Amino acid sequence: MCIFCKIIAGEIPSNKVLENEEFLAFNDINPIAPVHILVIPKKHIKSLNEVDGQTMAKITEFIKEVAKKAGIFESGYRVITNIGENGGQEVSHLHFHILGGTKLAWPKLG
Ligand code: 5GP
Ligand code: ZN
Repeated sequence: MCIFCKIIAGEIPSNKVLENEEFLAFNDINPIAPVHILVIPKKHIKSLNEVDGQTMAKITEFIKEVAKKAGIFESGYRVITNIGENGGQEVSHLHFHILGGTKLAWPKLG
């Protein structure tokens, strides 16, 4: 079982922000912004490369709910998903980083 599946199963504790039947949002253990939340599907999907459009539509609505709950919906935020080796994906379970709470930098990344 992957580390995020263990969080979903409750085998690893997490700081939950929002949850429904299909998705879970919890605080990143190593935040890189004042707000740094991870959104994951409860079903194990490896990355964006493997996700279907219907799930993406639903996860988009869930992300907006998370942003509202975190108080960053109006001020603005960033949604990032890393894919594969060059994308810097360390956990092979689809996740979206929700970053906000300050004016975010836009650095050169490569
Ligand atoms: P990636 O590099 O795969 O896009 O992002 C993985 C993210 O998961 C990282 O930001 C890392 O801090 C976070 N992370 C890894 N393990 C755990 C954990 O056990 N709990 C929580 N809350 N976050 C984790
Ligand atoms: Zn998993």
